[in-house]
Amino acid sequence: MDRIYAPWRIEWVERESDPIDGCPFCVLPEREDDRESRIVARSERNYVLLNNAPYNPGHAMVIPNEHREDPTDLGDAVLFDHAKLKAATLAALRRDVDPDGVNTGQNLGTSAAGGSVDHLHTHVVPRWDGDTNFMPVTGGTKVIVEAIDRTYEHLHAGFAAGDDVVDSGDAEAGEAVEFEFDV
Ligand SMILES: [Zn+2]
Repeated sequence: MDRIYAPWRIEWVERESDPIDGCPFCVLPEREDDRESRIVARSERNYVLLNNAPYNPGHAMVIPNEHREDPTDLGDAVLFDHAKLKAATLAALRRDVDPDGVNTGQNLGTSAAGGSVDHLHTHVVPRWDGDTNFMPVTGGTKVIVEAIDRTYEHLHAGFAAGDDVVDSGDAEAGEAVEFEFDV
């Protein structure tokens, strides 16, 4: 029997030192300091947030600015921007975190969700050959916080080193669409 492997089931958890009133994925991008909020990059309609409960270092989430539960509730422009920012996140990870592989996934609906956040988000989880769940390995909140801060620098550097306009791929498939992100 194959075991279903879903490291993205671990959800973002609030920092005890910084309680958030309301939906964290709506509140955090409204704040002034992206670094303090651990927002690594932003596009026009989505942003990239480091998971506070990482499965592995570099565990990030691509999140639409607007609060929706399900991809079918999002408009085409948001979906396209979401997909492009996910691709940019993969590129940034490969550039500066260099994993052996990556899992991506979404938890939709109550039976799939690992947490209580009902604001759609796509997990992007770097994987290394032979890795195990990072949290039990390192243990302790302080270690996790330091690791996340270090990871922030790496992933941020990965984004910063990339073009702020991601190649839209084969032009024959259709009109090239402009996509930009900021770090
Ligand atoms: Zn929200």
